Amino acid sequence: MENINSVPEMYGSLVFNDKVMKERLPKDIYKAVHACATNGTHLQLDVANTVAAVMKNWALEHGATHFTHWFQPMTGLTAEKHDSFINPQADGSVIMDFSGKELVKGEPDASSFPSGGLRATFEARGYTAWDPSSPAFIKDGTLYIPTAFASYGGEALDKKTPLLRSMEALSKEAVKVLHLLGNTEVTHVDTTVGSEQEYFLIDKEMYLKRKDLLMTGRTLIGAPAPKGQEMEDHYFGVLKPKVSEFMHDLDQELWKLGVPAKTKHNEVAPSQHELAPVFETANIAVDHNQLTMEMMKKVADKHGYACLLHEKPFEGVNGSGKHNNWSIITNTGVNLLDPGKTPDQNIQFLVFLMSTIAAVDEYADLLRVSVATAGNDHRLGANEAPPAVISIFVGDELAKVLKSIDEGTAFVSAGKTSMGLAEVLPHITKDTTDRNRTSPFAFTGNKFEFRMPGSSLSVADPNMVLNTAVAEYLSRIYDALKDVPEESRDEEVKKLLKKLLDEHKKILFNGNGYTDEWIAEAEKRGLYNLKSLPDAMPHLISDKSVDLFTKHGVFTKEELRSRYEIFLENYVKTIHIESLTMQEMVRKDFTSGLVSYMKDVTNEALKKKQLMPELKVSYETDIIGTLDEAEGEIDKALGKLSDDTHKAEAETDALKTARYYHDTILTDMDTLRASVDAAEAIIPEQYLPYPTYGELLFSLR
Ligand code: ADP
Ligand code: MG
Repeated sequence: MENINSVPEMYGSLVFNDKVMKERLPKDIYKAVHACATNGTHLQLDVANTVAAVMKNWALEHGATHFTHWFQPMTGLTAEKHDSFINPQADGSVIMDFSGKELVKGEPDASSFPSGGLRATFEARGYTAWDPSSPAFIKDGTLYIPTAFASYGGEALDKKTPLLRSMEALSKEAVKVLHLLGNTEVTHVDTTVGSEQEYFLIDKEMYLKRKDLLMTGRTLIGAPAPKGQEMEDHYFGVLKPKVSEFMHDLDQELWKLGVPAKTKHNEVAPSQHELAPVFETANIAVDHNQLTMEMMKKVADKHGYACLLHEKPFEGVNGSGKHNNWSIITNTGVNLLDPGKTPDQNIQFLVFLMSTIAAVDEYADLLRVSVATAGNDHRLGANEAPPAVISIFVGDELAKVLKSIDEGTAFVSAGKTSMGLAEVLPHITKDTTDRNRTSPFAFTGNKFEFRMPGSSLSVADPNMVLNTAVAEYLSRIYDALKDVPEESRDEEVKKLLKKLLDEHKKILFNGNGYTDEWIAEAEKRGLYNLKSLPDAMPHLISDKSVDLFTKHGVFTKEELRSRYEIFLENYVKTIHIESLTMQEMVRKDFTSGLVSYMKDVTNEALKKKQLMPELKVSYETDIIGTLDEAEGEIDKALGKLSDDTHKAEAETDALKTARYYHDTILTDMDTLRASVDAAEAIIPEQYLPYPTYGELLFSLR
């Protein structure tokens, strides 16, 4: 294992990063690449040829034999097709070749990726185009080139393209507003993202014995273990030695790839953990989060674990999410969501804060859509995760700032508080963010933290929505202020902020988001409560959504429609597979355990009776009676699930099918699970052909 002293050397050693480019590329070429990366323009072919040649030599030195255009189709996963560098010569030898054309453009046969109707089957071609703002890297002997993926007609077929478009839109609108406020140095802003990643680690051998985990990523049956998370002894607990080894290895692998893994700790549920990176520019953070998830699985496998990224792998204990920390930074290095020392005075900060608050209020439905998946639906609204209602937590200090805007009064800062250990501990500024873990969208000091994304989700979508919605409010603010004479601008900005606050303060909520009172209150306030994916999805193609995304050039109407179709289809397919897996598992695995246990108990009772006919064998009789009854219930529930799943095949409308799967199939699965779990609770482990919750959750060393 590498020496800790070598971390700076190891960090990014497999990345064709800015440092490598600066060292290896001719100066003018380096500048040209840089310009493309910041302006999103295309490379000239001669420039591309030089970059390709340098990149190839670097890759060969690092043991690469292949290259791939790495892209993010609408499955939410990543895709790659590897080509080798070899170019056979007439004399039987090979040379290693890589042209500028191969670097900047690829043409994968794209017919098997979801397009949601964007690409007719006769036009199967899709194009991948190099995204020079995200660095290439080497993994398993292949040079990975991050790319965007589009159809022949230029429609986005991936998650990266809309994200890049939204970053551009936000930059454009932010710069306009900043210039208006007198900050004319800024020419570009970037969105920054840090996504904290939760996951479970379980024993690999046990994982392989659970069809439900293998096929669907979550357990579909399973009685609760005697112990859950109620002791609160896992969160931030001491890392178990082997888990610690895994985390160490994972850090190293990620560092080599230039992924800035920073923090690791145990999470709330048993066997649950978290990794947080240092934040980066949004599109790089998205790429790196995808790499993080991939590496977690790979390194886990090497260590004899399976890494579960599903949002709700186990019933009754916390699920996993991905906290998406988001802010905006100027090319002059200023974090626009940093309140500075006196937030009330900082007009620039307040404009960006209010834009975000207003954007999240008006477009809460689209944010909900952006995190909607079959898996995440199990989590949102469950007691450990934020509810499906979106609200914003701003903390005491900022609440006072907003109040002063609202009332037009002066703001008095709470200032510093002492910890009471004055000489030992440094003074800590009274936390302006006052952690409220129940809020789906929280202002945490100098960034917003969106806590609804699920653990397996690509964070491209939520960030894309957030960027676009905030761009829209900045554009409205610009329009409202652009003709105001300079002398009265500050006054007008304040008035506008007050107006925006009046209109949108209904989204602000600092209390406990997990209570029923809040849900009732939220309804009174007219906030969205889109509980499931089928409830949320129609909002994606509403007029409001089409207006927003087309205005800012993020999606065309057709591109939106395609995503609507794909999300619904994906939801249906996911639950369909769950239904079939559950049926098979109950019918074959569980039932065989149940039957053989009943047989053994019956034989035992008969043997006793033979020996001593006067015995009552009431214990055995009870068990047999209970299991016999359970068997009947299971049989009935299984029959209903099977019949209803067949019926679903007749439905053709995507939304209706999704609703049917939500209302009928998920309910059938719950019913079946309840009777299976009740029976499982009294069957000894050796009769079950798969490991129980107790074994899955408490076996790690
Ligand atoms: P926690 O929320 O667990 O208390 P922190 O607040 O320190 O931890 O940071 C959580 C995440 O937020 C980290 O991934 C960090 O890099 C990220 N983060 C910090 N500042 C910003 C920012 N300006 N923009 C985006 N992400 C940020
Ligand atoms: Mg956090």
